[in-house]
Amino acid sequence: MPDGTAVSADAIVAGDATATGSETSRGGSLVPSDAGARPLLEARSISIGFGGIQALAGVSIEVAEGEAVGIVGPNGAGKTTFFNCLCGQLRPASGSVLFAGRAIDRMPAHQRARLGIARTFQRVEIFPEMTVRDHLTVAERARAGDWRLWKDLLAMGSPRKEEREHVEQILDLVGLTELGDTPVAALSLGNCRLVELGRALALRPRLLMADEPSSGLDTHETQLLADLLRRVQQESAAAILLVEHDLDMVARVVDRVLVLDFGEPIAEGSLEEVMADPAVRSAYLGKGA
Ligand code: ATP
Repeated sequence: MPDGTAVSADAIVAGDATATGSETSRGGSLVPSDAGARPLLEARSISIGFGGIQALAGVSIEVAEGEAVGIVGPNGAGKTTFFNCLCGQLRPASGSVLFAGRAIDRMPAHQRARLGIARTFQRVEIFPEMTVRDHLTVAERARAGDWRLWKDLLAMGSPRKEEREHVEQILDLVGLTELGDTPVAALSLGNCRLVELGRALALRPRLLMADEPSSGLDTHETQLLADLLRRVQQESAAAILLVEHDLDMVARVVDRVLVLDFGEPIAEGSLEEVMADPAVRSAYLGKGA
């Protein structure tokens, strides 16, 4: 991974987000004229249950443009469930989610991605023989959403100059230029995570969401990934929402955290502040975390 690159993440991430303050009421969604002054992401009182388990009970969060926010809490607290409600993987039983002032509750995940909400996944080996560069090229095409994506999948397409340049910028930023021609099946887990991050960046997100990106990585790889996430956030306009067990990683990446326990918010503030909170200490200690 490069230690600071000549390429500004700005050029890579700053994008073409489609929701703007000039939009007006359309299809049941409304972007107010002061949308720029509002949080980028607002989730209000999200609740959802699974059978008899109340996984989330009235959880709210606000993430400002360019801000890095963490969601922490002991095992089973509801972090991943909340994450999935925000990115559209799950539909909450009640509550609402707004992005740039626009209600997105009824939007599936792929439409939220078009608005600028990109999430990383744990695994990238969808096409194990496909190279790192081709993975990012497909992600670049998916963003455009045009018919050439299918030609790519049939190995018939050739990327445009600006697409090639953007892919090279991302490879540089995530430190994978030298592995660009390597099939993803041959990568270490740490490098797979970087491909995943690169794929998300190809969407030019306004909000980058990552669920447990350190899972399976060693301490050194985790630190490198944390530093890269921080650089992406600092150098670009992208906000970050991070669900993570590794509190050292959380400390490196985020500006503030929301703490969940048994599906409820129990504290919010800097990591230092919340970890000094007796309710948070007892939530963690009570579960042996
Ligand atoms: P961890 O840190 O262990 O990943 P978490 O904070 O992400 O946990 P969730 O995975 O969101 O917590 O789970 C919250 C609660 O909801 C848990 O009690 C979990 O067992 C339950 N749960 C989550 N998803 C489902 C599901 N699909 N079906 C049934 N119960 C679920």
